[in-house]
Amino acid sequence: MTATRVLLLLLSVGSGFAQAPPAIAGIRGGTFPDKWITGGPKCVEVPDWQVHEYNEDLYIIRESGCTDPEKPFLYLFFGKDRAMLQDTGSGPAETARAVNGVIAKWLKAHNRDAIPLVVMHSHSHGDHIAGDSQFKTLPGVTMVPLTVAGTAQFFAIKTWPTDIGQIDLGDRLIDIIPIPGHDTLSLALYDRQTGILITGDSLYPGRIYVKDFDAFKTSTQRLVDFTRDRIVTHILGCHIEQSTTPYVDYQIGTAYSPYELPLALSRAHLLEMNDTLQEMKASRDRKLLRDFTIWPIDPQHPFPHPAKRP
Ligand SMILES: [Zn+2]
Ligand SMILES: [Zn+2]
Repeated sequence: MTATRVLLLLLSVGSGFAQAPPAIAGIRGGTFPDKWITGGPKCVEVPDWQVHEYNEDLYIIRESGCTDPEKPFLYLFFGKDRAMLQDTGSGPAETARAVNGVIAKWLKAHNRDAIPLVVMHSHSHGDHIAGDSQFKTLPGVTMVPLTVAGTAQFFAIKTWPTDIGQIDLGDRLIDIIPIPGHDTLSLALYDRQTGILITGDSLYPGRIYVKDFDAFKTSTQRLVDFTRDRIVTHILGCHIEQSTTPYVDYQIGTAYSPYELPLALSRAHLLEMNDTLQEMKASRDRKLLRDFTIWPIDPQHPFPHPAKRP
């Protein structure tokens, strides 16, 4: 073999890796965008939603800060039999139009006419359920009830919150883990196909409001235990509020946040949160960490999130 042919062979091997990142056995990979939309600088130029294809069967959809400064992230999974959407957005968002657009393209790519859709929620706060009414009347849509009893029944969670439920979307099992603390109805999802753990508002790069401290501490320990023997490729939450400057978050209600941290955290962040909660013991002071803040709130007072925060 000539030196030129060896070089060509090496180049072709290299480009193959560049196109398809190496996968861990049994875990399907995906990508994140270089940047997420936030809310500006010119709102007229910013789309209401950013749809990102993590891979062909998982979409991450971010609401623009121009529509609502909460700018939540929504997740849309596809299995062989069903699709599942987590959360429906914040404020006056046309969520169903955005989600239906993604579903229509997925159907076309798979030569299918329709797929049933399950709409569930990371938790019950207003910035995650605002678009519910847009889905309730659509054909083929099942809404998971926004109650502990209804959620437990739907996902076959025998004892709330200590048991774990499942949903099978068709060759795609997702574990449903109750994690009360931020909200009574908080859930984490573990997608066995991608190894992604979705933690809602209970862990993300930003302000982790803790309403029920003891419940939150127990839930976090339960998540640590659940993930001990599993591959966790990414931990994804529902907001980004943290800036790229360590320990510094964007102010509450900021629409335009061009220097925000990436969305994806790792299991190391979960362990950091768990250790910190253990150390906090009786303290209810805010705990600033590099990539997020643990922010206990007084359960006796109205929950400040999302309209008014402390
Ligand atoms: Zn919340
Ligand atoms: Zn939220």
